Amino acid sequence: MEYGTGAIMAVPTHDQRDFLFAQEHQLPRRLVIMPKDGSLKSAEELKEAYEGEGIQVNSGGFNGLVNIEAKTKIAEWMEKNGMGRIQTHWRLRDWLISRQRYWGTPIPIIYCPKCGVVPVAYKDLPVELPADAPFTGEGGSPLAKVKEFVEVSCPKCAGPARRETDTMATFFDSSWYFLRFCSPSFTEAPFDQQEAKYWMVVDQYIGGIEHAILHLLYSRFFTKFFQDLKMIDFNEPFDKLLTQGMVLKDGEVMSKSRGNIVDPDSMIKDYGADALRLFILFAAPPETELEWDERGLEGAFRFLNRVWRIQDNLLENPDQEILKYLHKTIKKVSSDFSEFKFNTAIASLMELTNAIYHSGADRQVFQSLVIMLSPIVPHFAEEIWQLLGNKTSIFKSPWPSYDAKFLVEENVELPIQVNGKLRSKIEVARNISEDKLKELVLADQKIIPWLEGKAPKKIVIVPQKLVNIVI
Ligand SMILES: [Zn+2]
Repeated sequence: MEYGTGAIMAVPTHDQRDFLFAQEHQLPRRLVIMPKDGSLKSAEELKEAYEGEGIQVNSGGFNGLVNIEAKTKIAEWMEKNGMGRIQTHWRLRDWLISRQRYWGTPIPIIYCPKCGVVPVAYKDLPVELPADAPFTGEGGSPLAKVKEFVEVSCPKCAGPARRETDTMATFFDSSWYFLRFCSPSFTEAPFDQQEAKYWMVVDQYIGGIEHAILHLLYSRFFTKFFQDLKMIDFNEPFDKLLTQGMVLKDGEVMSKSRGNIVDPDSMIKDYGADALRLFILFAAPPETELEWDERGLEGAFRFLNRVWRIQDNLLENPDQEILKYLHKTIKKVSSDFSEFKFNTAIASLMELTNAIYHSGADRQVFQSLVIMLSPIVPHFAEEIWQLLGNKTSIFKSPWPSYDAKFLVEENVELPIQVNGKLRSKIEVARNISEDKLKELVLADQKIIPWLEGKAPKKIVIVPQKLVNIVI
């Protein structure tokens, strides 16, 4: 809709309900949020609403803003123009934490006929589960059947009283375990505040998608609660979260009950654990689903063999081209690793290996390659490392750093062949496109006579190596 026209000009298409409404009533649609990659230009291309993030378009004064920012700006604009008021809605609900289960943290509450609900005295905490509770399978809390546990004296009046026999939901424990992990032997309190201050927050949290909703919500809730109690001085427990994808087989999640699990033992026997590890990491980014397909395993194995053979042919002096390649790879792999993009890091290491295979590498370059491979194929890397004569573990050697002076994109000189015979040379930018390169080659003064005014049958380009024109 457009402001002030008094009529519906077009329906925005960032909401599926609006989209369907427009479709139903044959109203024109308008793109208001455009994907950042520019993959969508107009609403006419849409088969359904684009509900992702992006840049505001057709949005008056809000054009060009990232939609998340625009949201706030639009709300402010509406408030300023008397069209509404910004309000935060909290959707807090009661959380019933009690369970009729043995396994759980006892709720430290005592019921006294005189005093009512009385908390267990601080000195008597924690309340521990009795070791002899009967498991009858009959329902009701097993703790209620243990007389010695249930019958207590009231902390207030010392008269006969009853202990609470429900236990807390397991979420109650799993929502702050990371704080306890900072001081697991501490007996004075749930956790040592100094240790928590030192270790927290968690830099990188990794878990399955089942962790991403309730566990995360409760963990954040507990963290904020502890902060309010001034037991910790931070507001969020985790800096970064990675939810790893499931492994599928024939389109379904692998599980024993489905009978579609694969046994890694035979793969490890044939190819080794490192080849399998490499293959899995190369198959997909960790956050996406992975369709299990063993065909890549052979390739991973061949790649490792290729790396292995380099050690027999090390050069005395570094090859300048390979040095540049190495530093580019160090930069890429370091950044990919920090973003958990293992598959693209591996792809870069494979490219570097191929380049070394053709041009050769000295010991320094090869060692850097092996160090970069070591988190992925630890045994393999350590073995090469020792064969190279290193006395300490590869895992104690520093991660290679790149030198920016090697990263400058430079020109490369390519031989131009006509029917396989060298006829000219051309200097072009290393990253030149194939089309541009073809254009330059065909316009080369030394080449033109060889073409005899005809269009070539084929132009073969070996990137950064040579061009061969077939006439
Ligand atoms: Zn009492």
